[in-house]
Amino acid sequence: MQKKSHFQKTAILGLCFFAVSLLTVCASSIAQKSVSLARDGVYDAVARGRNGDVPVTTTISGGKISGVVVGENIETTVFTSRAVPVLIESIIQNNSYGVDVVAGATFTCSAIKTAVANAVDQAGGGAGLYGRRPVPARGKDETITVDVAVIGAGISGIMAAANAADNGAKVALLEKTTILGGCSLQSYSTIAYGVKAEIERGERTDELIREKFNAWIEKEMFRVDASLLNTYLKNAGSAMDYLIDCGFLGQPIDFRGRIRLMLIPYDERQPILEKMLDATVVRSGGAVYRETTAKTLIYDNGVVKGVVAERSDGSTLTIYAKAVVIATGGYGGDTQMVYETSGVRAEMGCLGSTIGEGIKMAWAVGAKVPSNLGGLQLHQTLTPAYLQGYDYFHMRMPLIIGYLPSLLNVSGKGIRFRNEAWNNTPVAASNSAAFTGGNTFVLVSQSTLNKLEQGGIGAVGTDLSPSIPPELKPAFEIDTPWPNIKKVMEDTVNGGWAFKGNTIEEVARAARIDPAVFRETVDTYESYCENGKDEYFDKPAKYLISYEYGPYYLIESSYNQLGTTTGLVVNARMQVLDTTDNPIEGLYSCGSDAASTLYNNMYTGQGDCIAFAITSGKIAGESTAAFVKGR
Ligand SMILES: Cc1cc2nc3c(=O)[nH]c(=O)nc-3n(C[C@H](O)[C@H](O)[C@H](O)COP(=O)(O)OP(=O)(O)OC[C@H]3O[C@@H](n4cnc5c(N)ncnc54)[C@H](O)[C@@H]3O)c2cc1C
Repeated sequence: MQKKSHFQKTAILGLCFFAVSLLTVCASSIAQKSVSLARDGVYDAVARGRNGDVPVTTTISGGKISGVVVGENIETTVFTSRAVPVLIESIIQNNSYGVDVVAGATFTCSAIKTAVANAVDQAGGGAGLYGRRPVPARGKDETITVDVAVIGAGISGIMAAANAADNGAKVALLEKTTILGGCSLQSYSTIAYGVKAEIERGERTDELIREKFNAWIEKEMFRVDASLLNTYLKNAGSAMDYLIDCGFLGQPIDFRGRIRLMLIPYDERQPILEKMLDATVVRSGGAVYRETTAKTLIYDNGVVKGVVAERSDGSTLTIYAKAVVIATGGYGGDTQMVYETSGVRAEMGCLGSTIGEGIKMAWAVGAKVPSNLGGLQLHQTLTPAYLQGYDYFHMRMPLIIGYLPSLLNVSGKGIRFRNEAWNNTPVAASNSAAFTGGNTFVLVSQSTLNKLEQGGIGAVGTDLSPSIPPELKPAFEIDTPWPNIKKVMEDTVNGGWAFKGNTIEEVARAARIDPAVFRETVDTYESYCENGKDEYFDKPAKYLISYEYGPYYLIESSYNQLGTTTGLVVNARMQVLDTTDNPIEGLYSCGSDAASTLYNNMYTGQGDCIAFAITSGKIAGESTAAFVKGR
């Protein structure tokens, strides 16, 4: 190796010294910044929540976070109304945005924390002072004894708990989040089979149930547990009546020629459920434990004897119970598990807290793994586009476009995969996209944009209001013009959620689709438009409208799942079966965890999911109370 001169050595030493000094200066300024006090003032910041932007105003006084106010936003209030005040109080009390999010409103809480962090940064405050994660004092461990422990306070768990209490049992209801009601807080309607009001009106209830039974069995190719299905359909009426009497369900209405029960307005649901649990579970000596996550079943000699849970302060709640009901809502919140069991990459539209914990607890004590693992509630078309700086109507335009029956839908390979009129029905739209391997595209041309600009979606052949979920649907009519659609489209392209090209080949290349394949797809589709006949999918002629001229746009589109429909196998009393098809003593299940043998694989929509959750919950409550009495 070549020897270095004295000058070189000195220069290297000097450089090292300079580098070390620089690092020291940097490190100390980082350390200083990390602990520096924030300047007093009022600071605005915005961060992305679940549905859109969440603006937050943070006040700093005396170097402390003294106020956090969340501005107007489109987050789902049924989840945020309880969680956000809890989070804000925790941020202020701990003088830190490093506090834990409140379970049940993770996205909104994370957005608020990010916005407060941004405000503190604007005020020159250090993360070391304001971003630390406070370690809560561990609470005291507790052991209790009840008759029935119900895990999960979605509508099935609530029905199980209330009905067990109504029938004399002392109940402990455990809920992982702060929220009672689970997915039912976002649901729209449920189907009715034989509610009192129908019978009073002289409906052909028995006949209708029989027709439904036969149609269901046939639709599911006879691969259902006929006795569970029969029990569900025959008991659904009294279960619905229970919730009508409690004020949670509205009176039956005629919905597109079918009887439906609408759920009461979103914001009124949780208080009604709280009241219902007070009048049942609490009144009969039991309790509701929020922010309490069930971890393992207490199992001894083939019998389930209780459950061990963890509370948010880290303490353990051990519950000895004669019967345990698993009502944890399936595993739709674990998108990896969904993909591994179903092969479907759908966006998660259910609760993030439903990750199959109850199912796995039961499997661990010998419950049967059903053969149809992977059953999903696929629903709705979505678009990932997330536009900022627009009002709600303009922000949702890319989403609405995904629902229009007259626009060509292609897979990521550029091949047409459905009759686009299926987009008028959410279940048909999402299930037909399930074999495309993920994202799909909707084709739009300059001619489409010109028509939308002048005459709204009616001008591009749409004759039905798109069946977008109510919480995502802006107010507009079929003939409401779309004045800013061209700018919206450019911003969608700039945001990376759509691709543009002057020609069909150019737009295909931009979207990484084989141009020759896409050209053939478009030419074939245009020939159907010209002849007024869709030779492939038989889409009605009224929806066959030529693209006329470019430039062209391919908007990314996808679909979501509202949860899973499988996990445990139950009998008609909601007892969980083991691998030899015998009930595991003391173990019951209901709702999404227990629907495995009701569906062959994919659910059929039409309000049956929530109706089964309600009905199976009621049966589980009655069965456990009877079992407890008999012991
Ligand atoms: C947005 C949306 C709209 C819908 N609309 C409709 C509709 O219009 N009609 C229809 O029929 N169906 C609809 N559904 C489906 C229907 O709401 C559900 O199938 C039904 O409510 C499921 O009830 P559940 O009690 O089984 O589960 P969930 O409602 O998922 O409740 C499960 C509960 O268990 C809790 N939990 C999970 N793990 C644990 C644990 N380890 N310890 C303690 N608690 C735990 C969860 O936090 C959750 O609160 C919709 C679903 C969604 C997501």
